[in-house]
Amino acid sequence: MSGFDLCIVVDWSARSTPSRARETADSIWIGLADGDGVACHYRRTRTAAMELLTSLFDKAMARNQRVLAGFDFPFAYPQGFARAVCGTDDPLALWQALADRIEDAPDNANNRFAVAADLNRLLPGTGPFYGCPAAEETHDLPARGTLREGHGLPERRGCETGLRGAQPCWKLYTTGSVGSQALLGIPRLQALRDRYGEAVAVRPFEQRDAPITLVELFPSLIADTVAALAEPDEIKDRAQVRVLAGALKALPEETLDAMTREGDPVEGWILGLGHEGKLTDAAMRASDGPAPPSLRNDCFAMPRGIDWVPVDDALARLRSGLHVVTATQRIPTAQAAGRILAADTVARRSNPPRPNSAVDGYGFAHDAIGDGPQRLPLVEGRAAAGQPFTGTVPAGHAVRILTGAILPDGVDTVVLEEDTASDARYVAFHGPLKRGANTRKAGEDVVEGAPALPAGHRLRAPDLALLSALGIGTVAVHRRLRVGVLSTGDEIVATPDQPAAPHQIYDANRPMLLSLADGWGYEPVDLGHARDDPETIAARLDHGAQVADVILTSGGASAGDEDHVSALLRSRGTLSSWRIALKPGRPLALALWNGAPVFGLPGNPVAALVCALIFARPAFSLMSGAGWTVPQGFTVPAAFTKNKKPGRREYLRARLTDDGAAEVFASEGSGRISGLSWATGLVELPDEAVQVAPGTPVRFIPYASFGLT
Ligand code: AMP
Ligand code: MG
Repeated sequence: MSGFDLCIVVDWSARSTPSRARETADSIWIGLADGDGVACHYRRTRTAAMELLTSLFDKAMARNQRVLAGFDFPFAYPQGFARAVCGTDDPLALWQALADRIEDAPDNANNRFAVAADLNRLLPGTGPFYGCPAAEETHDLPARGTLREGHGLPERRGCETGLRGAQPCWKLYTTGSVGSQALLGIPRLQALRDRYGEAVAVRPFEQRDAPITLVELFPSLIADTVAALAEPDEIKDRAQVRVLAGALKALPEETLDAMTREGDPVEGWILGLGHEGKLTDAAMRASDGPAPPSLRNDCFAMPRGIDWVPVDDALARLRSGLHVVTATQRIPTAQAAGRILAADTVARRSNPPRPNSAVDGYGFAHDAIGDGPQRLPLVEGRAAAGQPFTGTVPAGHAVRILTGAILPDGVDTVVLEEDTASDARYVAFHGPLKRGANTRKAGEDVVEGAPALPAGHRLRAPDLALLSALGIGTVAVHRRLRVGVLSTGDEIVATPDQPAAPHQIYDANRPMLLSLADGWGYEPVDLGHARDDPETIAARLDHGAQVADVILTSGGASAGDEDHVSALLRSRGTLSSWRIALKPGRPLALALWNGAPVFGLPGNPVAALVCALIFARPAFSLMSGAGWTVPQGFTVPAAFTKNKKPGRREYLRARLTDDGAAEVFASEGSGRISGLSWATGLVELPDEAVQVAPGTPVRFIPYASFGLT
C-alpha cells in the first residue's frame, strides 16, 4: 500500500468550450483511489475539475491525510525556456509567469494561442510554440512545426527522448496537443500552490514532504496494461485514470515515494519512467477482486464416533465444507491459458461476423439459376478474405469468390470452383444448387451477445481461439491457487544432490507434489523439508499460511508418537483426522492453520500420490474456482487375479495392455515408488468384496483423468 491515503490521476483537457454532458473521451477524467477502491469522475470544464480537486484536497487536509495528484501534461519545458522567459531555470518561476498571462474562463474560453505567440516573441527566430486554428496564425505563432526556425531550444525534454507516443510540449493544436494542455494546466496548478502554500509540494522540484504532492504522469507508459484492464466499451481516458490511480495506490510506500522524487530539477520528470514493470504489476494487483470469505473453522469436522469413513462420504464432506478461496483479476485473453474464468463471458462479436464463402468458387444470387447447364457473365473484380468486393453483383451475374470472403451484395450462393468451367468473362456449371450452398451464415457458430464460456471454466488452447474470435480481449479469472508443499521427517534428505547416510532417504514426495500442483494449473510453492520437530514444522506452517492458499504436507500424519504433523495440528490448529477406508492410504490429517487449509498426506509416496489424486485434486479444483471434479474412468477387462476383502476401497497401480485390458503392478507394497512410474493409471476396486479374474470388468482411471500428464 502506498503512503498516500488518496491517489488522484487527472486526464487533462485543453478544450475551448465545455465538453458534452454525455461522457466522452474529449474531456477531463479524474480517477480516485483510496482504501475503499477506485472511482472515476467526468468534468466538462477545467474550472469544474478544479472545484472537485480542491474539495478533495480540503477534505483530505481536514482529516490529516496525504494526497498524491498526478496530471498528464508536462510540468516543465526543455532546458533554456524558463531562463528565456523568467531569467532563471526554476520551473516554478515559469509556473507563476504562465499563471500571470493565461486567462481561462469557467466555460473553457481561453487566450492560450495569444500567450504562446507572446512567449515566442521572447525568443529569437520563430517558435518554439506552433500549431493553431487558421484564424489565429500570425508571424509569431506558425501553424506548422516546420515553419519554425532559430528559436534555439530543444524540441523535447530529456525524459521524453525515445518515449513512444510522447508529443513535444511546443505543439498546441490537433492530435496530442500537449502544449495546450500544459499552458492551460500549469496556471491551474499554480493556483493550487497559491491556495495551499507550503501544503503543496511539486515533485521532483520540491523534495519536502507535504500533505498534497503533485506529479506529472504519462498514462501511455503502461498503455498495454490499461488496454488489457479496460472494461468492455470503457472510454479509454476513463480506463487510463482508473487503472493508473489504482496502480499508484497499490505501489509499496517506499517505491512510490522514491518514484516521485526522481528526475530532473529543471526539466521535470514523468513519474514511473523506467519503472513500467512495477506500475504494471501494481495495476494488475489493483484490479484484483475482493478477497473471498475465509473457510469456516469447522469445514473439516467429522461427526463424532465415526470410525472408518468411506471414500465417497469423505469426498462429500470435503465438497460441502470447502468453497472458492481465490480472488479474481482481469488479464489479457492471450495470457489466460490454464486460468479459471471468474465470470461468464459473452460474445462481443458474431462468429463469423458476416456471411462468407466456405470454398473457392463463384458467387451469385440463387434466384437467377435453375436446373441444368448454367452460364453466368462474370463481374469484374473478385471477393477475397480481407479484401471485400464492394459493389453489387447484378442478378444473373457471378463473381469470383475465395474462401473466407464476405458474400458481396447480390450473392447468396457459391458454386465450388472444381464444379465449374470458366474463362475471364463467363462461368459455366450445372444446376441445381441449394440456396446458400457453400456459404457460412453470419453468427452460425456464435451470435453476438450469446454466452461464450461460463464462469468456472478452465481455459485451454481452443478456448483462447474461441474467446479471441468473439472479440473478448480480456477475461476475469481467478488468481492462481497457491499450493504450498512441505515434507516432514527426520529421515528425509531434502534433495538427491546431497549425501545421504544409510538411515536416510531422499525426499520423493515434495518434487512429486510440487509438480502435480503445477500440472493442475496452480502455483506451486516450495515450503521445503522440516525435521520432526514441532517448532520447526509450526514455523513452516506459519510461513506457508502466508504465502500459500492451501498446504500439502507429507509424513507424520498418523496418530503415533513420531507423527508430529498431526500432533501439532491437533494442539494448535483445528485438526480433524480422517480415517478413510482406503488402500493405500492411512489417516488423512485435515486442518486449518492460521486460516489456511492443510492436507496432511501420508508419508508413503504411493499413499501420498493416491490421496492427493483422490482428495486434494477435487478439493483444490473447488477452492480455485473451477468447481468439484470427478475423474473420468472407463470399464476394461482385468488382466489380473485378485481376491479383495470388503471394507476399504482400493486403488491399484495399473496400465493397459496392448489389447486394452488392465494389468496391475506386481507388488502392492506402498513403498514401491517404481510402480507409480510403471503405471499409466489406477484401477479402482469398490468398497465391497470382489473376486477379480482375467476378463472381469474393472474400472480403470488413466492418470490423465486425474490431470496427471
Ligand atoms: P510417515 O507417514 O511419516 O510415518 O512415513 C511413512 C513412510 O513414508 C516412511 O517410511 C517414511 O520414511 C516415508 N516418507 C515420508 N516422507 C517421505 C518423503 N518425503 N519422501 C519419501 N518417503 C517419505
Ligand atoms: Mg515420519
